[in-house]
Amino acid sequence: MEKIAEQIRSEASRLLEKGEVELVVGFRKGSIPMVSRPWLARTPQEAKELHWDGFCNLNLANYLTKRKEKVAVVAKGCDSRSLVLHMQEHQITRDQVVILGVPCQGMLDRRKLQEAVGLDREILEVEEADGLVHLRGRDLQESLPRQEALQQCCSICEHRNPVLKDLVLAEELKEQKAERFRDILEMERKSAQERWEAFRQVLSTCIRCYACRNACPHCYCPECFVDCSRPQWVGKSQDPQDVFTFHLFRAFHMAGRCTDCGSCERACPMGIPVRLLTRKLEKEIKERWGYEAGVSLEGVPPLATYQPDDPQDFIL
Ligand code: SF4
Ligand code: SF4
Ligand code: SF4
Repeated sequence: MEKIAEQIRSEASRLLEKGEVELVVGFRKGSIPMVSRPWLARTPQEAKELHWDGFCNLNLANYLTKRKEKVAVVAKGCDSRSLVLHMQEHQITRDQVVILGVPCQGMLDRRKLQEAVGLDREILEVEEADGLVHLRGRDLQESLPRQEALQQCCSICEHRNPVLKDLVLAEELKEQKAERFRDILEMERKSAQERWEAFRQVLSTCIRCYACRNACPHCYCPECFVDCSRPQWVGKSQDPQDVFTFHLFRAFHMAGRCTDCGSCERACPMGIPVRLLTRKLEKEIKERWGYEAGVSLEGVPPLATYQPDDPQDFIL
């Protein structure tokens, strides 16, 4: 990890010193354990703060939307896919961005780590080495396999290597073939009534804070439908119908655009598995059009195009 961090700092300093970019978007170590935060370096001095570890989980494409200057960005597989989407949707141009690609070993889930040691014990230090995560604190010294501590989106990720990059800052990884939709298939096997109940249950604790929306690198409409009052697409209340409408609209807005980076789920203070909805749509798009969001600059997302001979057999 430290070797990758050194590579990031060195490339960032070089690009800023030579004036090839005005800004480098990466990570800085957080002020508390198990958190890294975004860091926007504009000088070689600021680039010395750049950092890399298993908690650099934010999707940095979120910090590039509508930027005008030339920017370098540190990109994992999922960030790079979101950058592709940004380019396809004209949020930024390819020649504006220098992509510092980092093949990603998967990011750690701090909720899982905390649960592993018990909620009453404070983790003060985390070290990653030889496939293990070492956790230390007062009266605490435990290790667990890194693979078991991954975020769920990372354990089923099939694009860990950046799909678009200008530089690669670590050895490329062998991509895994994962069972991405096991839970979705289980849900599909349920009756309509059971699915409805499961859906009600999953969303029953939603407080409509919109952290899931705000964390998503692809939620950049100038005015979100939930904030719009003329027309009012969805009620502002905590009523389950309004909560469901928000989630269904948002999920459909992500159809063919979600890169399954997990930012929405990580941001949710209530621990709601919101990716159940977006991955269902990911599965549909894959089965119908063989399309995966953001894996290539070529082609147009299926729901962003129209053919006069479209079968339209879904229209009643
Ligand atoms: S989703 Fe994939 S690329 Fe993104 S952090 Fe997880 S393993 Fe890395
Ligand atoms: S909907 Fe969630 S998983 Fe999908 S791109 Fe947005 S933040 Fe990432
Ligand atoms: S972040 Fe969680 S609680 Fe907040 S609106 Fe999204 S699903 Fe609901």
